[in-house]
Amino acid sequence: MGVIRLMDEPLSNKIAAGEVVERPTSVVKELVENAIDAGSTAIEVLLVEAGLTSIQIIDNGAGMDSEDALLSFSRHATSKIANEHDLFRIRTLGFRGEALASIASVSKVTLHTSNGENGTFVQMEGGRLIEHRAGSLRKGTDIKIDQLFFNTPARLKYLKTLQTELGHSIDLMNRLALSYPAISFKLVHDGRTILQTSGSGEIQRVISDIYGVSIAKKMIPFEAESHDYKISGYTSLPEVTRANKNYISLFVNGRWVKHYAIANTVHKAYHTFLPLERQPITILNIEGDPYLTDVNVHPAKQQIRLSKEKELMDLIHETIRRTISRAVRAPIIEQPK
Ligand code: ADP
Ligand code: MG
Repeated sequence: MGVIRLMDEPLSNKIAAGEVVERPTSVVKELVENAIDAGSTAIEVLLVEAGLTSIQIIDNGAGMDSEDALLSFSRHATSKIANEHDLFRIRTLGFRGEALASIASVSKVTLHTSNGENGTFVQMEGGRLIEHRAGSLRKGTDIKIDQLFFNTPARLKYLKTLQTELGHSIDLMNRLALSYPAISFKLVHDGRTILQTSGSGEIQRVISDIYGVSIAKKMIPFEAESHDYKISGYTSLPEVTRANKNYISLFVNGRWVKHYAIANTVHKAYHTFLPLERQPITILNIEGDPYLTDVNVHPAKQQIRLSKEKELMDLIHETIRRTISRAVRAPIIEQPK
């Protein structure tokens, strides 16, 4: 008799959760990404104790029907890709179909969702279904995660202070707001509103909501394209500097990514304009055929591999350098008064 068995779903989901759900911010990220993918124009995030007590995301997106609401908690269940080809042309933030399954396996979840025709309520605990019934007809989705990591005490132990965990979520929400200026985001912590954006569609307004009006006034727009890539965004005048690269926000096809080489290219474009150890504030949107941008690197979907990287780096370097050169020269020419 062999000794190998297939794991049951709650167990395999819990193992996957180890990679997908590192901390409360990972939950916020996955759930807000789902709300964005559902076409929401207003997304509200309510955290209690930095998300450790509860995380609630309310959106006004497409919602789900009763069957999908249940299926959404199954591993590898997704409405976003249907075959292997789709994997190379991903236009949504999600595609792995494992976030809800992973999150539900390490928390207590209540979901209210409605597509406008029928409403559904689902309750899960530690990956097991507690209740599935008809619910409210408010269009959109309202999902609440209580007691994250209640059944994985070791993970709970590794979390940092509430302030640090909250800091991660604020940072995440700032980037999402910068990347989706046409969506109105609201972040509330323990009843206090921390971030609220208008959803007007103007990036400069979001920059001002996040970094303040005086910084927003010192951000210069840029836009350029090469054969395969299109870039646009805002970058700071050399008089505005920061101590680290956290203020260089990179988005590839709407996804906030971390990419050391690109951030470094932005920094290098400021060579001689900024002291070597200082960094600019930059919002850089990169658009390219999804075929050239592989996000299937890690479950958290924050790393990306790019084809034609040299072409992109040259485009970024030249565009930002030109933008800064022009901007700093402008005031000199205008001075003779
Ligand atoms: P993925 O986003 O990779 O597809 P998830 O586990 O995050 O996987 O979600 C599973 C599915 O549940 C999604 O494909 C989507 O169809 C549905 N879903 C999740 N959240 C929402 C939401 N807020 N609004 C509408 N549908 C949702
Ligand atoms: Mg998702």
